Amino acid sequence: MSDAIKSYDDHNIFAKMIQGDIPCHKVYEDDMTLAFMDIMPQAQGHVLVIPKQQAVDLSQLEPEYASAVLMTAKKVMAAQRKVLEREGIIQMQLNGAQAGQTVFHYHVHLIPSSIHELGRHGSQPADQAELAELATQLKAAIEQ
Ligand code: 5GP
Repeated sequence: MSDAIKSYDDHNIFAKMIQGDIPCHKVYEDDMTLAFMDIMPQAQGHVLVIPKQQAVDLSQLEPEYASAVLMTAKKVMAAQRKVLEREGIIQMQLNGAQAGQTVFHYHVHLIPSSIHELGRHGSQPADQAELAELATQLKAAIEQ
């Protein structure tokens, strides 16, 4: 399988979220990043953090956005620990289709799970009301 780096497609689903064209259950947003609930979570409370930069993967991510994504990830992880009352959070990020990447806008997964339990990509959309409630709780925990 060829795994050449794709060129950035500004119609990808995460670009549309940044532009406000499609909805998401937002957990946190600032000038450089957006964090929201994963629609097909691999565990309860699965959050994605994305930069507001057009980057397919890590190789294209500018240093200031890399830093901003990690700072947002730290906020989200602290909120996940508080809301979900668990210490263990997996930080995962896939580069290239060969690695399993399916959305070609750089994103960091924060998954309240264990590497020993983490399965394949989720295949079923989560309950929207549950995602909305978790997003509200995580947002409040970040703002505390
Ligand atoms: P990747 O495989 O590229 O690392 O992860 C892509 C992630 O994006 C998957 O966990 C998938 O569930 C999530 N995802 C795909 N489409 C949407 C969407 O429309 N909304 C949200 N919130 N998550 C999505």
